[in-house]
Amino acid sequence: METVLFSGQIANDLKKFLGHLDFSSLGIIMDDNTQKFCLPLIEEILPESAKTFSFPAGENQKNLETCVHIWEWMTREGFDRKTLIINLGGGVTGDMGGFCAATYKRGIKFINIPTTLLSQVDASVGGKLGIDFQGFKNHIGVFTQPEAVIIAVEFLKTLPQREFRSGFAEVLKHGLIRNADYFRSLKNENWQDQAWQEIIEKSVSIKKDVVEKDPKESGLRKILNFGHTIGHAFESFFLGTDKHLLHGEAIAIGMICEAFLSAKKCSLSKDEMEEIEKSLLSVFGHVEFSENDIPQIIQLCAQDKKNEANTLYFSLLRRIGECDYQIPVTAQEIHESIQHYRS
Ligand code: NAD
Ligand code: ZN
Repeated sequence: METVLFSGQIANDLKKFLGHLDFSSLGIIMDDNTQKFCLPLIEEILPESAKTFSFPAGENQKNLETCVHIWEWMTREGFDRKTLIINLGGGVTGDMGGFCAATYKRGIKFINIPTTLLSQVDASVGGKLGIDFQGFKNHIGVFTQPEAVIIAVEFLKTLPQREFRSGFAEVLKHGLIRNADYFRSLKNENWQDQAWQEIIEKSVSIKKDVVEKDPKESGLRKILNFGHTIGHAFESFFLGTDKHLLHGEAIAIGMICEAFLSAKKCSLSKDEMEEIEKSLLSVFGHVEFSENDIPQIIQLCAQDKKNEANTLYFSLLRRIGECDYQIPVTAQEIHESIQHYRS
């Protein structure tokens, strides 16, 4: 499993860390936002010979074409098997930069420095790397661990509020699936007002614990998909429209629907179901759509790659803090859960 380091002062800590590593050259991969907002925080300690590559920000850049540009850059710069790559950015940069490093010359070393809340608490841990392909998310990829993940809260100062809140959905999810006290300790109305350092450490420890027990997602790791089967469908449904949802915003809807399914199919109590709804709605508000949209959203659930054959399997809550997985759910039940959210 990867080493996760929590840094209180990224420039100093990265300098120390690099001092212990043996590498021939250094390459930094980032997007245009993290080049502008995050690179300045570490620039002074980088060797003058360090090479940089940046691509336009956004999920729609997490594709093979950008990888080709990255591999071309690596080749042009003469990177060898002892080159070290630093991925400086959110989940898009970490997933794609890591994938390019893990495949260049059969794999060179890389460090991830996640700069969004979502990538700090979720994407940077667990070794999943990859890109989107032909409309399918994370369709091509590998499992490879970085040399280290270095997490510094100071990057979050420049993160747009909406991106920040999106990451908070995964934090709430960590509490819901694994730790009721943690879930209840999180602020809802003033969600911006949290002890982020502690929250990030707690969330990373939950994610790490689950992934360590089941690295290749043959069982337990599926609980991290709570909220994601229906959530991904909403994410795809609104993609490219003016109601476009960020990942966490879609997952928040998914968690409300799947809490309803948890009460119906698993042992979640009605009180806890309502507690979950209240908490998520107070942070994320309610998203409107029409009754006629529901069949298409259900269709999109079926396309979620996490499901096998024709049965839809869900990770559902037994109670707040405890999650079960591989629970079969029918299209009719999904319909009811989405209707429940709508009302
Ligand atoms: P992202 O990388 O696109 O970052 C979101 C936006 O914030 C971008 O515009 C980025 O430029 C900007 N940004 C990043 N850091 C900033 C900072 N400090 N200041 C200002 N702006 C900043 O997206 P994300 O939300 O971090 O991650 C989503 C991606 O992560 C998806 O592709 C998803 O598939 C992936 N993911 C991977 C895993 C995994 O296990 N590998 C888990 C969850 C999500
Ligand atoms: Zn997620």
